[in-house]
Amino acid sequence: MSEIKQATVVLSEAAGPGFHTIVADAEAPLDAAPGQWGAFHTELPNPEKPGQNLRRAWSFSELDGRRFRLFVATVGPCTRWLADRRPGDPLPFTGPWGARFRLDERDGPAAFFAVGSGISPVAAMIDACVARGRPARLLWETSAPSMGARLAAWRAAGVEVQVGPELEPSGPGLWWFAGDGPRLDQVVGDAPPERVERFYTPRPVARAGA
Ligand SMILES: Cc1cc2nc3c(=O)[nH]c(=O)nc-3n(C[C@H](O)[C@H](O)[C@H](O)COP(=O)(O)OP(=O)(O)OC[C@H]3O[C@@H](n4cnc5c(N)ncnc54)[C@H](O)[C@@H]3O)c2cc1C
Repeated sequence: MSEIKQATVVLSEAAGPGFHTIVADAEAPLDAAPGQWGAFHTELPNPEKPGQNLRRAWSFSELDGRRFRLFVATVGPCTRWLADRRPGDPLPFTGPWGARFRLDERDGPAAFFAVGSGISPVAAMIDACVARGRPARLLWETSAPSMGARLAAWRAAGVEVQVGPELEPSGPGLWWFAGDGPRLDQVVGDAPPERVERFYTPRPVARAGA
């Protein structure tokens, strides 16, 4: 079984309609690569596995030694539980996980297409591009933009940033994609699996009488 690590919430705030951000300090440096994620253990019982609690995958949206940021769409029980955490609350997790969705070591232009909360791992990757002086471009498809200060800092560092409700990835660069699975399926083309991070696929809705 994976080692459970402890983190403590230091900031918890709404990040635009339907989104929430958490900053937490782990007990030890995370040693995570941009694009990686943690499996966070909530206090909510798992109805399908008696005796266990629900866990969810959330990407590290910002990384700085022991400190990390999460950025989540508040869509269900676990994200509502997360949004209720307050400074000082514990946030147990395992990880970092994810050997696949990573920046490569090239220097050529990088381009990112993020849908909704897909901005979360992409943000950490853009920070890394900025730190390395690698040209980067972001298309963030969202109807609830936030992260104003961070977007401004990226723009000031030369990142080309486009934010809007309906965007299409096109143009030069090596593309990475993250967020809503069905939407990504419409745009990824023949991008290799290691450059596509599908967060979720909507669960089938039970029909009345079915
Ligand atoms: C590797 C990986 C990294 C992820 N990183 C993030 C992240 O950084 N931020 C984040 O918000 N989510 C992320 N997700 C998705 C996340 O793990 C959960 O799906 C989400 O938090 C739902 O938990 P819940 O219990 O609140 O809702 P659930 O009851 O599990 O889901 C309710 C419904 O909401 C929809 N849904 C699920 N996730 C999302 C979402 N992100 N945006 C819009 N609708 C959704 C689905 O249709 C689902 O049926 C990631 C998933 C993976 C696999």
